[in-house]
Amino acid sequence: MITRRNLMVGGAALAGAIAAGGRVRAASPADPLATLSDGHLELPASFLLSGLPDEDRQELGLPATGEGAVLTPPCNLTLYRSGERLVLFDAGSGPNFMPSAGRLPDSLDAAGIDPGAITDVIFTHAHPDHIWGVLDDFDEIAFPEAAFHICRIEWDFWRSEAALTGLPEERQNFVVGARSRFDAIEERTTLFDAGSEPVTGVEAMAAFGHTPGHCAFVLHGLDAPAMVVGDAISNDPVSFARPDLPWGADQDAEMGAATRRRLLDRLAADRLRFVGFHLPQGGLGRVETDGTAYRFVPGA
Ligand SMILES: [Zn+2]
Repeated sequence: MITRRNLMVGGAALAGAIAAGGRVRAASPADPLATLSDGHLELPASFLLSGLPDEDRQELGLPATGEGAVLTPPCNLTLYRSGERLVLFDAGSGPNFMPSAGRLPDSLDAAGIDPGAITDVIFTHAHPDHIWGVLDDFDEIAFPEAAFHICRIEWDFWRSEAALTGLPEERQNFVVGARSRFDAIEERTTLFDAGSEPVTGVEAMAAFGHTPGHCAFVLHGLDAPAMVVGDAISNDPVSFARPDLPWGADQDAEMGAATRRRLLDRLAADRLRFVGFHLPQGGLGRVETDGTAYRFVPGA
């Protein structure tokens, strides 16, 4: 399909995908589970690591959190092919969040996937790097044929007064941004509850804490089940080596830590493949136990 975006992006697509780290992962029609890079974020280290004691930070080889220190977590979207459905988990940052993110259109193009072929977009949660990308740089819906699915609790939270009054000043634009995207996709959006299947074979699991309605998903249509964990397990090594520590990006840090521990236990016990949105090397891997904690094994 020729779109205005295709005409504008043209030959820059491949260069963009390479600039994004060459992490366009096996998104061939034959591969039922793949990840696509949306670039990366650039966030103050102090924001993410503020809950981490200095001693732990040093032991884990993380940078000091002084002024100007930046972490650059990658952004990996999951692409899941099941029968006639081509399901994308989250929509990326789009053109208006950060210059280092919003590369999904280039990654799709380089993988030979027309955004019009995406049948469903399932959101883990409504933070900017996960939902702002539903709108392209013309403010049109970036996936013209897709149905959208999001947890009812998440939808209700971002539209509530509590989102405006309960979040810190620097996150108020998250509320405005989520609401404008919700308005744009509302007619095509179905709300689901944890425990249900927004798409056949995709089981939604409550993974609350990072946001009030953050969900993880078990994919049942593969040779062996796999999981999409979104931002519930979001940093290598901290989320694995110190899963119980409060994480700066979690809205409810205590609930986020409990969720993380529960998901890690299941991933390790069942040896499930999983995708973490902000984990390295494409975000696809497995978990190994390491004493009372865990280790991320990418690409397994
Ligand atoms: Zn995120």
